[in-house]
Amino acid sequence: MGLREIKGDSRSEPGELPHLNNLSNSNKNAVKEKSKMSRKVFIFDTTLRDGEQSPGASLNSTEKMEIARQLAKLNVDIIEAGFPISSQEDFESVSKIAQEIKGPTICALARAVDVDIDRAWEAVKYAQKPMIHTFVGTSDIHIKGQLRKNRDDVLKMAISAVQRAKSHCYEVEFSPMDASRTDPVYLREVVAAAIEYGATVVNIPDTVGYAIPEQFAQIIRDLIENVANIDKIRISVHCHDDLGMSTSNSISAVKSGATQIECAINGMGERAGNTPLEEVVMAIKTRADYLDAYTDIKTQELISTSKLVSRLMGFVVPPNKSIVGSNAFAHSSGIHQDGVLKERATFELMNPTDVGLQQSEIILTARSGRHALRHHLFELGYELTDDQLDKAYERFLSVADKKKNVFDEDLVAIIEDELPNIPQTYYLDYIQVSSGTKFVPTATIGLRQGNEVFQEAAYGDGPVDAVYKAIDKITGLKLELIDYSIQATTMGKDAMGEVQVRIKYDHRTIIGRGASTDIIEASAKAYINAINKLLYGKAI
Ligand SMILES: [Zn+2]
Repeated sequence: MGLREIKGDSRSEPGELPHLNNLSNSNKNAVKEKSKMSRKVFIFDTTLRDGEQSPGASLNSTEKMEIARQLAKLNVDIIEAGFPISSQEDFESVSKIAQEIKGPTICALARAVDVDIDRAWEAVKYAQKPMIHTFVGTSDIHIKGQLRKNRDDVLKMAISAVQRAKSHCYEVEFSPMDASRTDPVYLREVVAAAIEYGATVVNIPDTVGYAIPEQFAQIIRDLIENVANIDKIRISVHCHDDLGMSTSNSISAVKSGATQIECAINGMGERAGNTPLEEVVMAIKTRADYLDAYTDIKTQELISTSKLVSRLMGFVVPPNKSIVGSNAFAHSSGIHQDGVLKERATFELMNPTDVGLQQSEIILTARSGRHALRHHLFELGYELTDDQLDKAYERFLSVADKKKNVFDEDLVAIIEDELPNIPQTYYLDYIQVSSGTKFVPTATIGLRQGNEVFQEAAYGDGPVDAVYKAIDKITGLKLELIDYSIQATTMGKDAMGEVQVRIKYDHRTIIGRGASTDIIEASAKAYINAINKLLYGKAI
């Protein structure tokens, strides 16, 4: 059993690597058991550093903190919080993250020069588990073209940078930048020196996205076979997606012995981006049988983390994006739908709930059968009689003929046309909201039920939240709001706003809609609409 396998089982505090001698006998056995099963792969998230370097994705300090909190919830091992020497703002946000975020190691980036390294330390020194990441280009293209030095100079720079960082901090990561285009013999030499002078992690970057999986795996194997004491440190990889191979390269590296992946949410990063965290994590989880490895990521947080990063960075996630795209778990062919309804494993590789989705979204098409329609309508809150189903199915087929995919929204429109009007258990009678930058938003709502009007007031995080809380007080229902969207249905400042909500109750997801020129009123109407559907569905 190698030391690296043992290390994988314990999230070590800075200052001590778990050595066999430090473990009690029972611990040794526990470690043995787990390491026999698999190796831990550390997840080093660089959304806030490499990801933030995506052109057009810059974040302010509050937004960075929000993402850092979510990354801690996702349970990443290391957060690379920024590059403190690059600006005063970056320095401050790294420093705030280091002071506030508990759990993950907080890392700061520094070029291989003293002033950078000292600045990085200043920023992370208050972290529970601080780390300095220092790097220097080692390919001839970088040495001659960018640094205008020779290999000996660069080797000395690497040694002195690691020593400097080590004088501040136990956890030191060293990266020979552009490693995949570096002469392999020289790469061994630099990596061996970094380890000798105290690096606890050596990161092998495919800086320009040049590597091919088999070749990249070979680079890692070559280092493992030829560098002294490499089994005492973590081997990391950092791959870019210029040729669309960042995930494949990272996974190949894990297969050949790497124990850390640097990656970013939604694959954010320079140019074509960095390795998408969600992809490598789910690849390791789904193919643990082949890779014999695991991560500590709370995968149920993947979708919400992806949404947060997409919203704050202003980068839309394409619908067909692996793991976090809106279509990633949607099936449209009739055969697939039927299969998934009967036995999920037929066409679904991963369980959607593992990544934080409620259920796989089945988009109906003209090829979908009656069974799929009935099931889907039930999930949306409608239980139909056979007669009603026949009618709805006919209508559905004519819509599906014109439109390729029939989404939930279309089904709601069809069904509401086809079914007798849904009884309006509750009507909105009046609404009064006060909010402003210095007030706690408060709402007073009157809901009519039959001849009676029930009134309640509530406050909330925002005016819509306050309105929904007041409505909940009246209905007494415990509803979970899982989606809220608003769009203008007409042009201009006096546009009609249409609000659509998705609420969850028991295992059912129900869509409600409301329109008004006042968006708060539209929000209330949408919520009440969903509640009326829910109550109607329960009644039949
Ligand atoms: Zn990078």
